[in-house]
Amino acid sequence: MSPTGSTHISPAPPTHEDFPAGFRGAVLRPGDDGYEQARVVFNGRTADSEPALIARCVDEDDVAIALRHASARGLPVAVRGGGHGTDGHAMPGGALVLDLSGMREITVDPDTRTVRAQAGVLLGELDAAAQEHGLVVPSGTVTSTGVAGLTLGGGIGHLMRRFGATVDNLLACEMITVDGRKVRADEKENPDLFWALRGGGGNFGVVTAFEYRAHPLGPDVVSGQIVFPGDQAAAVLAQLPAFMADAPRELGLATALTFAPPLPELPEEAHGTLVLILIPVHTGDFADAERTVAELAALGTPAVNTVQRTTWLKTNSMLDATAPYGWRTNARGGYLASLTEPVIDTLLQRTAASPHLPGTITAVNVWSLGGAISEDVDEDATAFSRAGASWLWEAVSVWTEPEHDGPYDAWADGTTAAMRPHTLPNAYTNLTQDQGDAWRRGVYGSEAKYRRLTEIKAVWDPRNLLRHNKNIAPAPGK
Ligand SMILES: Cc1cc2nc3c(=O)[nH]c(=O)nc-3n(C[C@H](O)[C@H](O)[C@H](O)COP(=O)(O)OP(=O)(O)OC[C@H]3O[C@@H](n4cnc5c(N)ncnc54)[C@H](O)[C@@H]3O)c2cc1C
Repeated sequence: MSPTGSTHISPAPPTHEDFPAGFRGAVLRPGDDGYEQARVVFNGRTADSEPALIARCVDEDDVAIALRHASARGLPVAVRGGGHGTDGHAMPGGALVLDLSGMREITVDPDTRTVRAQAGVLLGELDAAAQEHGLVVPSGTVTSTGVAGLTLGGGIGHLMRRFGATVDNLLACEMITVDGRKVRADEKENPDLFWALRGGGGNFGVVTAFEYRAHPLGPDVVSGQIVFPGDQAAAVLAQLPAFMADAPRELGLATALTFAPPLPELPEEAHGTLVLILIPVHTGDFADAERTVAELAALGTPAVNTVQRTTWLKTNSMLDATAPYGWRTNARGGYLASLTEPVIDTLLQRTAASPHLPGTITAVNVWSLGGAISEDVDEDATAFSRAGASWLWEAVSVWTEPEHDGPYDAWADGTTAAMRPHTLPNAYTNLTQDQGDAWRRGVYGSEAKYRRLTEIKAVWDPRNLLRHNKNIAPAPGK
């Protein structure tokens, strides 16, 4: 018998009537007060699907009760953390959803520099709590993203070159198994599970809290945006590999190719034209930061340069405006071994070919890896893969009108196809939508890693009740 101790029982649809009375949170079905609000997630395209029940867990006991109920009936379970997953797996039609967004406790221990966050915490809340003690947990770049999905997939952001991925700073997970037992996963306790949770996503159980290593940082850093006209984009991008090869780990760099929004800081003639935006975040010495950023700006002739000394909290929310919650979206991406001329040409061609319809946002982003995320952790130390990757590209669109789904999906498909020859088989699973079975086998970096994940899945979720995700199927016969 597996450690889950599970037996097979025929699935039956989730119903409100037989949901366990001991569950303390609200259990919402279509038509109930609060249901419509509860089912809103980042990707507004989930508005087309209707979960059967949304169980709003108030604590880990609720999670355990709901999972025991699901397990006894063989019911597949979807899990909602911050709701940012662009595949919309957090709110599938007809499903039982465990909604952890009410579990928002954060505890910071400044002496041990550790932070414990429950699974409903959002990145903006994590940042704010840690900064009260002059600390930071390396995570992502948009404040409404959930710590849960981000951490379980890997977690990258402005600090990854300095401190590594979020999973590289993860000390432990508290998890409820699919049959309702509380377990801890860290380097000593359930180390295989801990390995899998660091990149394997929500495949193994429902994590109720994360414990992180935090680092001293801020309150001030140097950050902003350097905007180059489109006709300089290729030349500026071509200089970045050499620039970043010598750059300090304190420099984080993201770039965006986009059609400039009508922002007051941009000259009017730039509105609606293709621009390249460099987004440097320097968290080291201020004089070094000034020098590094000046060198970066000198790679071309910027139309606008907003880089300045500012707080970490403002820095790590500056991209929020590009991510309106509840709009329709798609997202594709992958790793690049290098930022070569053919890659840059393709990125520029695909940006130019984007529908850029009024009232929509599209950006083709390139993130510089290197430093701690690339050099300090062995590829096989976590399920999260980064081997061979120097850059990460992503193509993201957001829009509101259902009739725009077609043009944006066609553009995303075309961009994925055009980038395929340049894209590595391994990937950061969170910054792209699922690209199918073959892709899922490759994203962890090797056949051996994928096989290990399927074996761990077979131990902790043999019936694949957690299947509303980038799914790792249980290894057969385990
Ligand atoms: C606008 C935007 C900006 C982003 N920026 C970044 C970024 O800067 N860096 C980065 O690394 N990523 C980024 N992401 C990607 C993000 O990390 C993923 O979308 C992640 O899945 C979001 O987690 P969530 O909890 O908000 O999402 P949810 O949709 O709630 O969860 C996603 C999936 O994670 C699993 N899951 C969630 N909670 C749990 C749990 N408690 N236990 C088990 N499984 C669980 C489930 O399978 C669920 O379907 C961004 C995404 C968006 C949409």
